[in-house]
Amino acid sequence: MAKKKEIEINFDSQKLNNRKIIEAFPKIELHRHLEGAMHVKTLYDISLKNNLSYPTSFDEFQNEVQFPKDSEPDFLVFLSKFKNNWYKIYEDIEKVCYESVKQLARESIFYIELRFSPEHYALENNFDRIEVTKLVIDACNKAAKEENINVKYLITFNRAKQDQKEMIKLYKKLAKANIPDIVGIDLAGDEIHYPPKDFAKLFTEIYNDGLYKITVHAGEVTPASQIWDAIMFLYASRIGHGVAAIHDQKLQMYLKEKNIALEQCITSNHHTGAWPDEKTHPCAKLIEAGVPVTINTDDPMIQNSDLTDDYLKLIKYFSFDLNKLISINKTAIFSAFIDDKEKVKLWDKYMEKIKEFEKKFSSNSL
Ligand SMILES: [Zn+2]
Repeated sequence: MAKKKEIEINFDSQKLNNRKIIEAFPKIELHRHLEGAMHVKTLYDISLKNNLSYPTSFDEFQNEVQFPKDSEPDFLVFLSKFKNNWYKIYEDIEKVCYESVKQLARESIFYIELRFSPEHYALENNFDRIEVTKLVIDACNKAAKEENINVKYLITFNRAKQDQKEMIKLYKKLAKANIPDIVGIDLAGDEIHYPPKDFAKLFTEIYNDGLYKITVHAGEVTPASQIWDAIMFLYASRIGHGVAAIHDQKLQMYLKEKNIALEQCITSNHHTGAWPDEKTHPCAKLIEAGVPVTINTDDPMIQNSDLTDDYLKLIKYFSFDLNKLISINKTAIFSAFIDDKEKVKLWDKYMEKIKEFEKKFSSNSL
């Protein structure tokens, strides 16, 4: 694929420490779970409306549904924050999804691949999985259109929530429904007890059908061997997190050669304990080694963070300048699950946004 020429921009790096400026910086994100990215106030309103057994004071509610700020990393506490009992009627789902995408505008997201598990929305009330999938996408697309954000979708299968047989059944239904804007399939959840090989049948089928691209959570809290397995047995063309790649140089060479991008998430990796010290997160070293790395949030509502926070960490801990920030976004767009022509078109549009950003903030002393 023909890649676009690098454009060097002179920009005062001091200004990049300003949250307002980074908030306005156009961003491309490939790894955000809708079920971990609700707007917390919307969720609170729904909890009150549906008389759910959550605290009725907003502060206490926040403490219960979000990972406590500045607390020690804890994978189980992190996972315990994911609940799926919010929704009573379809309108609840629509409201939550619509507001999640509205939030993206506040983070200046230009292009995003949002992922979600139909099970999350459907399980509690046994809603129809395909109907729910369409509903989620329609609600998100409504907000995306209003905010002029480019959004595509990945369907997540959760390792612990369904067995492979059930996954195959749902996958077949999804493939048959041929819902527009779904571009990929993701495997998430407990990677310690459910290694990639357990899902080889499903992913071989997905790969052979050729309808969707594949990304797999691997090497987040497991060794690099699981990243190899996700690529070799599940045909992953991107890897969720993949922090363990830092320990395997042969793998780094392979990722570089095959252009398999890592979807890394600094804040999330800290909270889950996947990489407890943000200051030494492997993203910068992997980029230096030529591995395609993208920076993402994962579950911003649970983490009480946004993509701006992760970008500020790149600047603070790894001295990223504007060109490096543009470069990770270039990696992201060229690793997106859309066709090559669309990538080039979006990249041109993205660079227009960058020019507007530069014009606005080069002269402005905020
Ligand atoms: Zn994830």
